[in-house]
Amino acid sequence: AKDSGKNNYELYKAEKSGMGMEQLTLENSIRRALHHNEFILYYQPQIDVETGEMIGVEALLRWNHPTLGLVPPGKFIPIAEETGLIVAIGEWVLRTACKQNQAWIDAGYKPIKISVNLSTRQFLKRDLVDNLQQILQETGLEPRLLELEITESMTMDVDFAIEVLGELKKLGIGICIDDFGTGYSNLYYMKLFSIDRLKIDQSFVRDIMTDSIDADIVATIVAMAYNLGIDVIAEGVETEDQLNYLKRLRCREVQGYYYYRPMPADELAPMLGSNGS
Ligand code: C2E
Ligand code: CA
Ligand code: CA
Ligand code: CA
Repeated sequence: AKDSGKNNYELYKAEKSGMGMEQLTLENSIRRALHHNEFILYYQPQIDVETGEMIGVEALLRWNHPTLGLVPPGKFIPIAEETGLIVAIGEWVLRTACKQNQAWIDAGYKPIKISVNLSTRQFLKRDLVDNLQQILQETGLEPRLLELEITESMTMDVDFAIEVLGELKKLGIGICIDDFGTGYSNLYYMKLFSIDRLKIDQSFVRDIMTDSIDADIVATIVAMAYNLGIDVIAEGVETEDQLNYLKRLRCREVQGYYYYRPMPADELAPMLGSNGS
């Protein structure tokens, strides 16, 4: 009980200030969490709106804290980023996601793509590509069944991004630009980077029915993605109206509470179709 109070306090303080002594203790609990296997992945389906089929899942990190319960990533990822712990966590996420996807395939489910969020620090690490190659080999997952979600800000160093993304493409891994439209966007670069998919940020989707500027932005992104031959997925779809608007635009892929919330692996499994038949 004493410990639980302390943990609550750590998280509370870290939230308030985000720095100093409290950050140090939160840093220590994050480090401990990694070694004590307190992180878990939730999976949120991605749907092809024309067929209604699940075409992929996004892996989303949760901290299953012994006393606080499920802690969302927004509460600890910023500190993990600052301290560099995100690199070790990120590697765990990649390995766990690939292992899980291969486990579903081995259990006879129809293969789907798994999308994994990459942090900036991970993207900038020199050994990312070697690491990924190692994880794919170790888990036996086909590279085409893995997609990495990166953000526009990671591609600021254009030459570096072209090099790394080129190597990832050679491996056969898919690349999606997450939160598209919120950062420094240049669709011309998207072509240079040989991106497979754009994910329209949920902030645009949220107000699609009430804000005509957001509605126009979404329409423009979908149209330009089509012209460039890049797939496009909308995230944060919560209502039927939003879905219908996206369908009218011919935005083929969506993710959001309207269909499914993120869920643990064992809840998702029965929704995966069987392979072959
Ligand atoms: P994101 O990559 O933009 O992920 C989408 C977030 O929106 C997720 O929040 C998801 O649960 C939530 N979401 C999905 N559908 C809906 C909807 O219909 N309405 C609303 N309001 N929200 C929806 P979550 O899981 O809390 O993750 C937050 C962020 O934390 C992620 O944003 C991502 O930036 C980061 N994150 C999550 N997992 C990882 C990870 O493994 N590694 C790294 N580096 N970052 C991660
Ligand atoms: Ca994402
Ligand atoms: Ca996003
Ligand atoms: Ca995000």
